[in-house]
Amino acid sequence: MSLTYQVINPATEELVTDVSLADLTRTDDAIERAHRAFHSWRAISPGERAKLLRAFAQHVTNHREELAQLEIINSGHTLGNALWEADNVANVLNYYSAAPERLFGKQIPVPNGIDITFKEPLGVVGVIVPWNFPMPIAGWGFAPALAAGNTVVLKPAEYTPLTAMKLAEIALKAGIPEGVFTVIPGKGSIVGNRFVTHPKVRKIVFTGSTEVGKSIMAGCADQVKRVTLELGGKSANIIFADSDLERAAAAAPGAVFDNAGQDCCARSRILVEKKVFDSFMGYFETAVKKFRVEDPQLSTAEMGPLISKKQWESVQTFLDEPVAFTGSAPSGKGFWMAPTVLQPKSTSSRAWREEIFGPVVSIMPFDDEADAIAKANDTEFGLSGSIWTNNSAKAIRVSRAVESGNLSVNSNSSVRYWTPFGGYKQSGLGRELGPDALDSFTEVKNVFINTDN
Ligand code: NAD
Repeated sequence: MSLTYQVINPATEELVTDVSLADLTRTDDAIERAHRAFHSWRAISPGERAKLLRAFAQHVTNHREELAQLEIINSGHTLGNALWEADNVANVLNYYSAAPERLFGKQIPVPNGIDITFKEPLGVVGVIVPWNFPMPIAGWGFAPALAAGNTVVLKPAEYTPLTAMKLAEIALKAGIPEGVFTVIPGKGSIVGNRFVTHPKVRKIVFTGSTEVGKSIMAGCADQVKRVTLELGGKSANIIFADSDLERAAAAAPGAVFDNAGQDCCARSRILVEKKVFDSFMGYFETAVKKFRVEDPQLSTAEMGPLISKKQWESVQTFLDEPVAFTGSAPSGKGFWMAPTVLQPKSTSSRAWREEIFGPVVSIMPFDDEADAIAKANDTEFGLSGSIWTNNSAKAIRVSRAVESGNLSVNSNSSVRYWTPFGGYKQSGLGRELGPDALDSFTEVKNVFINTDN
């Protein structure tokens, strides 16, 4: 019996299309094909592999509007975001297209011979993608994996398969050989789990919830399978009294409500120094009320709907703390929700501690630098965060003290494809993007050559 999944447009609740989901046999066949393709893909000369990746990037660029439209109707992403996301895939492919010719090993001085290291590809890499950023998160996995000479099987989230399926078509058009990059829509419990248990899949790149990430890590242990995990977050936006308060407040809605708060880097806890708390709240309320939640097709939209009814319902369960104020959202069909600012009564409340993954932010005052750091670190997560201050020594001190993989000072930006990205504590394991990501798609091989007679 073949399984299908109905893709629903979250802005209108209309049916977009039916997608056929892979069963175990289809998954195993795809993994076998990827395994066979590995031997020829790794043997392609570095310059040729680089050219193919650049061609893939160019084809993604040629299809950027089409990809963006698919993401709008599948995921409810705003037009501006969806175009950025398609461009991000092309940028990441271009960035890692420089890698095949630069996968340097080392020559290490040793007596009686020469010692050299090689960076060898792993084999088939399984990439498991969540629904919140279907395009970029796929690209952060497959681009460096392919560049390092691996082949890739990729499972998109059940809710959001359309852009990944399109990217697989585009790859073939660009000349990436059959079997090198295969997208397999399907259930986590079937396709995703098979990536973990199949012995020919040598590495898992997983992005998703901390709960599923832990089970994947446990599953990978059985074969000592390599694994990179990008998991949840509960990031702090720390605003000191000596910052440009108006600027920090104007930027704060985008830092948490972008993508309807369904962002692992969402600054979903705002910490404001007590003596400026009231003034910050004034500026922040103005900014939240201006935040445009509307039809994601509009170029002015800053936020669209949530991904699904289920996600909408899950977010509502966090609204049991005092509401400071809200923004606005369309009514009628679609999984819409107004940006909401909570003032939780205590740091033990669910809204303060758990990842909500919706347009809800919790705000609290702090006493001084030490209290800000203690409150920011009082979480099992550690993915991103922001520090707003005009004192550069304090900015550096606090950046060093906050236990988090990606921090920004007087800014809320977390992601640049040429800098490393990943989490502390239960936000993940390993780093993606940047120059070092290739290390997690290669094994280091050491070879000693005896030069004595
Ligand atoms: P999820 O964990 O439910 O699912 C993620 C993916 O794993 C999906 O493709 C799903 O089908 C698959 N999956 C589910 N069960 C599986 C299993 N047993 N074996 C193998 N695969 C399985 O997460 P989600 O709801 O899609 O995404 C939201 C979560 O992702 C949030 O917690 C968010 O913080 C996190 N996230 C993290 C990052 C990051 O980079 N750190 C980025 C985006 C999202």
